[in-house]
Amino acid sequence: MTERQGRRRVVLKLSGEAFGGGQLGVNPDIVSQIAREIAAATDRVEIAVVVGGGNFFRGAELSQRGMDRARADYMGMLGTVMNALALQDFLEQAGASPRVQSAIAMTQVAEPYLPLRAERHMEKGRVVIFGAGAGLPYFSTDTVAAQRALEIGADEVLVAKNGVDAIYTADPKTDASAERIEEITFQDALVRGLKVVDSTAFSLCMDNGMDMRVFGMEPAGNITRALLGEPIGTRVIA
Ligand code: UDP
Repeated sequence: MTERQGRRRVVLKLSGEAFGGGQLGVNPDIVSQIAREIAAATDRVEIAVVVGGGNFFRGAELSQRGMDRARADYMGMLGTVMNALALQDFLEQAGASPRVQSAIAMTQVAEPYLPLRAERHMEKGRVVIFGAGAGLPYFSTDTVAAQRALEIGADEVLVAKNGVDAIYTADPKTDASAERIEEITFQDALVRGLKVVDSTAFSLCMDNGMDMRVFGMEPAGNITRALLGEPIGTRVIA
């Protein structure tokens, strides 16, 4: 693990579904709880957040219903920016110092994605929120979390899940024989077709030696625990 001023650096991936509490739009109570958990760790960890957008639009779903895939993906990316702004607001209310960077230029609401500036923000204890994914259709925010982690020299990607607390051998909601996995390699996760994180994100981490932890957002406090490096959920390694 790289040490920076004695602090580790992580990228936290939050799904849009979590922001909406399973509904369309943003649930302020949930986002405020997430923000408080992030703010509780900012004095000890350098944190960047990649936010999803599934509570608004998923390009693949819209394209199945007749829309052009790339245009639908851009709608998905714009949804992630709304989540980024909501998280920025609640992080400020929680006493943190957030900065939003967008991969699609929209200078009134966010800085452009500038990795070196993101690193400076983090060194100063600010939380950087990456919105608009990679700015590229056909990508997911899981993959963006892995890519951003590599580019800003993070030590680990932390993938927060709602409704599941770790990686299992099968979907525990539908398969009673599903077993919880403590540690797995990216290769194994790919071969077994475990869908909890996108295969492209697994591949990118595998090829570049980036560690990942997949954990559940519940109970309250788990996001802080994961940020601080507690071994919750499943560790995924190269
Ligand atoms: N998206 C994209 N390129 C990116 C990131 C996201 O096209 O680099 C689009 C894609 O349509 C995706 C949507 O934005 O479905 C929302 O992101 P994602 O599905 O990863 O959000 P989550 O499932 O984490 O809420």
